[in-house]
Amino acid sequence: MPELPDVEGFRRFVAEHAIGRRIESVETLDRRLLRNRSPQGLGRSLRGARFGEPRRHGKWLLAPVGEACVLMHFGMTGLLAWEVRGSERHPHDRIVFVCDRGELRYRNMRTFGGVWLARDEAERELVTGPLGPDAQDLDRDRFEELLARRRGGIKAALMDQRLMAGLGNLMSDEILWRARLDPRARCADLRPRRRRALYDALRASVRESIPAGRVPHGPRWLTAVRDERGATCPRCGTKLRKDNVAGRKACWCPRCQRARR
Ligand SMILES: [Zn+2]
Repeated sequence: MPELPDVEGFRRFVAEHAIGRRIESVETLDRRLLRNRSPQGLGRSLRGARFGEPRRHGKWLLAPVGEACVLMHFGMTGLLAWEVRGSERHPHDRIVFVCDRGELRYRNMRTFGGVWLARDEAERELVTGPLGPDAQDLDRDRFEELLARRRGGIKAALMDQRLMAGLGNLMSDEILWRARLDPRARCADLRPRRRRALYDALRASVRESIPAGRVPHGPRWLTAVRDERGATCPRCGTKLRKDNVAGRKACWCPRCQRARR
């Protein structure tokens, strides 16, 4: 499921292939994924305009095109592809931006996520809802401030896009594992030392996962093993525990992550 590092990878991908490219037409192959315009309306707004410098906020990709901005969310299975014009379509290509030198394709096996158009900041915020600061740009003071006001569990807080944007189930589990913190810990109970360790773990996890364009599957990552049967902790070898926390299937080490305070 695309989280901050994946969407940052998609941002680089658009920057590499589409900046400066002129849109000649937009083909909506699945209307369900085009969320706030008709296919004709989207085509009219974008035809003849060029892709500008893409940005990312949390799990949202914001791609300016002329005066407007295309907003993309990748749901659970979304991705982007750049293909030669007129080449064979993939069965999951949903919306195709036909440009002067290739096609940018929004591809998604399932129907979570989608493509929106925003004419201005107000419309953008209407689509994305209020978003907290991006987890990549979050400084220590702001992180402390956000957690200090927060009630409830720490995993829920890390994944709450209104509080801080970009982290999902995998990233929050990685951060908590690095910080050796039980995902069921309450924000209000965390000692200052633990909050500092949590912030350090967040910074390191985000920094190391961005070049990979996804949560890495390396030897020091839970993501590499969490889906295996009988998965064990990469640090201590204890069998990992999996249970619902904050509405998601969390994975943690019952030995390393005993700390609740
Ligand atoms: Zn462990």
